Amino acid sequence: MLDKHQGARLANLWDDGKAAGMTEPEKLLYRSNLLGSDKRITNYGGGNTSAKVMEKDPLTGEMVEVLWVKGSGGDVGTIKMDGFSTLYMDKLRALKGIYRGVEFEDEMVGYLPHCTFNLNPRAASIDTPLHAYVPKPHVDHMHPDAIIAIAASKNSRELTSKIFGDEIGWLPWKRPGYELGLWLEKFCQENPDARGVVLESHGLFTWGDTAKEAYETTIEIINRAIAWFETENTGPAFGGRSKPVLAAADRAAIAKKLMPVIRGLISAGESKVGHFDDSQAVLDFVTSTSLEPLAALGTSCPDHFLRTKIRPLVVDFDPAQPDVGNTLAGLPEAIATYRADYAAYYERCKRADSPAMRDPNAVVYLVPGVGMITFAKDKATARTSAEFYVNAINVMRGASGVSTYVGLPEQEAFDIEYWLLEEAKLQRMPKPKSLAGRIALVTGGAGGIGKATANRLMQEGACVVLADIDETALEAAQTELSTRYGKDFVRSVNMNVTSEAAVESGFGDALLAFGGLDILVSNAGLATSAAVEDTTLALWNKNMDILATGYFLVSREAFRIFRSQKAGGNVVFVASKNGLAASPGASAYCTAKAAEIHLARCLALEGASAQIRVNVVNPDAVLRGSKIWTGEWKEQRAAAYKMDVDELEAHYRERSMLKLSVFPEDIAEAIYFLASDMSAKSTGNIVNVDAGNAQSFTR
Ligand SMILES: [Zn+2]
Repeated sequence: MLDKHQGARLANLWDDGKAAGMTEPEKLLYRSNLLGSDKRITNYGGGNTSAKVMEKDPLTGEMVEVLWVKGSGGDVGTIKMDGFSTLYMDKLRALKGIYRGVEFEDEMVGYLPHCTFNLNPRAASIDTPLHAYVPKPHVDHMHPDAIIAIAASKNSRELTSKIFGDEIGWLPWKRPGYELGLWLEKFCQENPDARGVVLESHGLFTWGDTAKEAYETTIEIINRAIAWFETENTGPAFGGRSKPVLAAADRAAIAKKLMPVIRGLISAGESKVGHFDDSQAVLDFVTSTSLEPLAALGTSCPDHFLRTKIRPLVVDFDPAQPDVGNTLAGLPEAIATYRADYAAYYERCKRADSPAMRDPNAVVYLVPGVGMITFAKDKATARTSAEFYVNAINVMRGASGVSTYVGLPEQEAFDIEYWLLEEAKLQRMPKPKSLAGRIALVTGGAGGIGKATANRLMQEGACVVLADIDETALEAAQTELSTRYGKDFVRSVNMNVTSEAAVESGFGDALLAFGGLDILVSNAGLATSAAVEDTTLALWNKNMDILATGYFLVSREAFRIFRSQKAGGNVVFVASKNGLAASPGASAYCTAKAAEIHLARCLALEGASAQIRVNVVNPDAVLRGSKIWTGEWKEQRAAAYKMDVDELEAHYRERSMLKLSVFPEDIAEAIYFLASDMSAKSTGNIVNVDAGNAQSFTR
């Protein structure tokens, strides 16, 4: 039995019409994007492609052979022309003359920049020699699940020759680098008719005389592996099911409970963002008899374990008798044990010059009957780590179905994880932004102040959940922010803050999306104005419901999450100048705003011992972008001041002490300050952002 992921054949997407008229580098780009568009061909960021092309040398004007090869970083699926490095082939060949042997292969990376053609600033990757020394014009290196399943089988050499005969060769495990490049060259010289080679525990190399031939060979070889598994791997996946799968709603409910607790336990060094995956491939694995033994073996392809750590943590949860309370109680010990095991692995394998031990927490958490939770420094990394583990699951499924699955030997895994070249790459990474890994929920998130706040927090690296009742505005805000910062960073939930059920479910969605919560910005509001004798009970209640009760309900939910997460928390209320300064003709609004401010003070007191901070920003007269100011409130205010509506902004500006207009971005800046560690020692405070108003001076 095979799932559709492994069962379906890859389609040949090469279009001669499209490729006609393309230069060789353009065809390389075309082929790379086609290959990278299917995760069965290669995982995200994994694999690379190359072409050896004749180019005019900019100095001599002579035609020279140039290697175009995917550079360091990026993904073949989305690579653009500037993602390729270009290097002189004659210089790459000359490097053989200074190579001092396998112990010194890492130093060869330092020579690659000397081979750069045409001042191309794209850094050459560690895999460059693998492409350079294969004596073929077009070379693909992919990490297909179906091929790695062969490569990670105990008898992978035998399987390779059984499936492919002499067409595809086999090379034993060797860490990617200069030496492996020479091995590939030797293989090609000794096997001139071979069309490719399987690298043990790693992946596939294929080649061709034209871009099209290379592409079609890659697809054909992977399809042959897929077909072979279809006929050979016919037993139940992973030796059969030993645990039930919970219903989708129950799986989500369990994940929502586990994620903030795990997050709190592993976020001491850096805040982490979570991802939940309960796809069929994952469920098959986490309900199988082989879950524990296979998970303990760790992953195989170097790309897999670099993203997923050497092995996952299997959470102690029994879907046959679900008792999440027990599981939650056991998590601190389970996580401490994982960390101790990781430290022991580091101690066992470290070398004299190894970098210091990195974060010892697990990335992947497998929950029997429920699914897989991953945590990383940001959402995109958590999501791709999950994708990598799904690749690993597919590999284990194939290998264990036809042979015995073998993970990479521990020392080899360690040498890649703590490779000095890998460490240098990490050191070059830009310093994380001030809110990296933080998760915020902003109510009224689609309106003026709400959206400006989300934008400001996302600028600092936070993940944001926009909560609003205006579905259309919500969709527009999410599109705008995801275009600007990437779709991984923003989610939206429809939330009526006066409904207990809607608030609970909205926060639940936030937990499932990002795995926890650090910041609540309570901002959803309205404004009304009426003389007290004309204030209906309905109008009074509406103000109280949205402003006082609404702020209470979202804060209560945030506090519950903060307490289960045990990592502090941060609440910022957007109140109003009118919460401090009484204003005629708006008693319902002013009273409700005053209630918000007092609620914030009470919560600051209650939360302090758990490092939960609660502060208030008091805006005044923020007209631009505000939905409050688009309705009758604007007309009512204008009428109260006996002026035209378009005179209001100038009126408020002139009324302020600083003679300045107040914009949503100004409020967002104060919210960011209170939500960030810059104000780590402030709680129970009010920051006025009103261009100066003596009436609302705090005292
Ligand atoms: Zn590779």
